Amino acid sequence: MPQANAKLNAFPVFMRVEGEAVAIVGGGEAALAKARLVGQSSAVLRIIAQTAEAELLSFIAATGAVHVAAAYEAAHLEGAAMVFAASGDEALDRRVAEDARRLSIPVNAVDRPELCDFFTPALVNRAPVAIAIGTEGAGPVLAQMLRGRIDRMLSPSLGALATLAASFRGAAERLPKGTGRRRFWRDFFAGAPARAVEAGEFARAHDAAVELLVSNAPASGHIALVGAGPGAEDLLTLRAHRLLMEADVIVHDALVPEAIVAMGRRDAERLPVGKRKGCHSKSQEEINALLVELGREGKRVVRLKSGDPLVFGRAGEEMAALRDAGIAYEVVPGVTAAFAAAADFELPLTLRGVSSSLVFTTGHDLKGNSLPDWAKLAISGATVAVYMGRSVAAEVAGRLIEAGLSPDTAVAVVENASLGNRRRFHGTLADLPSLEARADLSGPVMTIIGDAVAGANFERSEPLAAHRHEDTASATAEGVEQ
Ligand code: SAH
Repeated sequence: MPQANAKLNAFPVFMRVEGEAVAIVGGGEAALAKARLVGQSSAVLRIIAQTAEAELLSFIAATGAVHVAAAYEAAHLEGAAMVFAASGDEALDRRVAEDARRLSIPVNAVDRPELCDFFTPALVNRAPVAIAIGTEGAGPVLAQMLRGRIDRMLSPSLGALATLAASFRGAAERLPKGTGRRRFWRDFFAGAPARAVEAGEFARAHDAAVELLVSNAPASGHIALVGAGPGAEDLLTLRAHRLLMEADVIVHDALVPEAIVAMGRRDAERLPVGKRKGCHSKSQEEINALLVELGREGKRVVRLKSGDPLVFGRAGEEMAALRDAGIAYEVVPGVTAAFAAAADFELPLTLRGVSSSLVFTTGHDLKGNSLPDWAKLAISGATVAVYMGRSVAAEVAGRLIEAGLSPDTAVAVVENASLGNRRRFHGTLADLPSLEARADLSGPVMTIIGDAVAGANFERSEPLAAHRHEDTASATAEGVEQ
């Protein structure tokens, strides 16, 4: 809430400039910055500079701005809708400001607030939508920071959506005033038309909007299967972040940290559904049914999964259930644990001349006598990333050695990859079984095996073998059982 006495000394307005001339006096960097800013509009730029720097000249050539290559005189300002004094020469800028005032043209003088009739905003441009941020010149860096934050929040396709909305304005006027019309617009901007525009499918967006107009049916639900990344908040994608902020309901796994779930709207409903090995949680069938039910209720749901939703995330079953129920869904990729672990170790997952393939696997399919396909790949040089591999570490190592992989093959292990409390261990395949006995690892663990691992940076890691003979029971915190 603004303080009672806090009044704006500059009032923001959006001024029509289509086809109007905007005069900029100056040939240097400041003039170029203003030209770039105003160049985002359809105003006709008139740049008054006897000599201009190369970059400004190429801007003029590229945009078709008018270049008045002459010593400044007041007549150059005539007919302009706004004037910028950006010469960098204090006396000249003052003269320009005075001339503009005499001609009754609003003027902005760069770095001279006392000469300004108006200030320029930091601008988020999603034409025709514009968000202008002003600080009355008090904090240009703050304005830029806010600009960055707002820019990341808004879909790149917001402009296209607003343009589509404009074409439906007349039709929407025929809906009953009040709730009916409001609901149409809410569903338009948050429902199927918006999602189709986001996907670049404009014809479908148009059809969906028409359907909303005629059906008057309650909004259909939508489920986004979203990858939350390996745990660090800033490894979330911008799209995941945006969907989280729009969601009515967030259905999340135990491995997704609270800090990420908290990035959703404050009033969003949050439903934890497990699954952490050994803890009570909803069964997969119950989760599928829950998603279908929320979709039928018309909710916008984010189904938040750790890492990437399509890697050991049981997304296949959830998508099948949604498809069968006719509920719209989309998938938003995330940074999978193997990538985060590799980054923590500066470990090249593929390495020229050493490893040209990469396997994502879980040791849990090492049943019976037959070797799984990935073991053969490991032997022929692939880098192997083992998910949920801690409790089967001995089995994985034993079977690989038995199949012919050298016990000296390098192994890297990361607990809590990407997070501040991560721990790194390195060793060989022969050391790997010791992992099972480590009671001190309570977070999720990623194991990477292969010759490429030898190229990692082991400076901040501990030897894996230190605990080889320890005989403690293994803790149960491995994440999802797939
Ligand atoms: N969909 C997830 C994987 C889910 S399976 C992804 O793409 O990453 C759960 C397993 O992922 C864990 O047992 C562990 O092996 C791995 N994992 C998830 N987050 C991890 C992290 N921060 N550090 C190390 N391993 C992690």
